[in-house]
Amino acid sequence: MQFKDVARVEIADGRTICLDFNGDLSYISHAHSDHVVGKKRNEVVASDPTIHLSGISYNSKLVHDHLKLHPAGHMLGATQVEIKRDGGNFVYTGDFSLADGFTYKGANIVEADELLIESTYGSPDYHFPKKDDLAQILKKEVQSRLQYGNLIFAVYATGKSQELIKILNEHCGITPVVSPDVAKVSEIYTKHGQNLSFINSHSDEATEAFKGNFVGIIPKSQFRPELRMRLTQHYHRPCYFGSLSGWNAKFPSDVYDIALPMSDHADFNDLVEYVDHSDPKKVYVFGAFAEGLSNVLKLRGYQSYAVG
Ligand SMILES: [Zn+2]
Repeated sequence: MQFKDVARVEIADGRTICLDFNGDLSYISHAHSDHVVGKKRNEVVASDPTIHLSGISYNSKLVHDHLKLHPAGHMLGATQVEIKRDGGNFVYTGDFSLADGFTYKGANIVEADELLIESTYGSPDYHFPKKDDLAQILKKEVQSRLQYGNLIFAVYATGKSQELIKILNEHCGITPVVSPDVAKVSEIYTKHGQNLSFINSHSDEATEAFKGNFVGIIPKSQFRPELRMRLTQHYHRPCYFGSLSGWNAKFPSDVYDIALPMSDHADFNDLVEYVDHSDPKKVYVFGAFAEGLSNVLKLRGYQSYAVG
């Protein structure tokens, strides 16, 4: 069974809505690029922050009694959609986290007759520490590295960077220097009510900050191991690198000095908890570990299908 077969859903007026893919009427769960393929939309269902962060253009926005958006955690503006139909409802979670982040509230669990759930970390290998514990570990790491040199985190520009800025601001009393890509997204967060303090690396303020030891944030896609040597020579002091990702729970990195299992997704227990409380008659699982999680759900008595 393919994702698009399940994620093309009929709504009350007889039309179909495409969940996280482009169609005449499409729903966008959140602004991460793998959920926003194609920047031009006809009729769209999405939260205002998601529309702003994703940079899409559209002809019209649909608000319909039978389409209800619920918070999904995960990042600013992320939602789940509940589609009410004759004889029941269909819920699509998109990427979600039950735990609160530093810039978002955790997801609601929505009771569903049919549930389409993402399973990014749907393996028992993935259990994530509490966010406040991670912030304390991060604080100690940041303080100790800054005594000797610079510390640069390579994380996703959208979502994870803003979580990190918030931790640095509120737990460490630090204003990080961030790349223009990260600054651009962070400015949108600020417009939507998140108070983030950061310095754009292409500003005069950054030139001042670079004179002392600093914490930097660059997009993960720009990280190269050779940057360590290059920046160490440039600033004449050690340059350490940090990674914050759920994958660090199972694959400790040997290219980063700090690699913490900090994720904005549900972990395995959260995924099972979601399904148990949603209690669907049918559940469709998609993403990494879909087959494994679907088998676990079958053993728990659910009519479950892995979606490719
Ligand atoms: Zn996402």
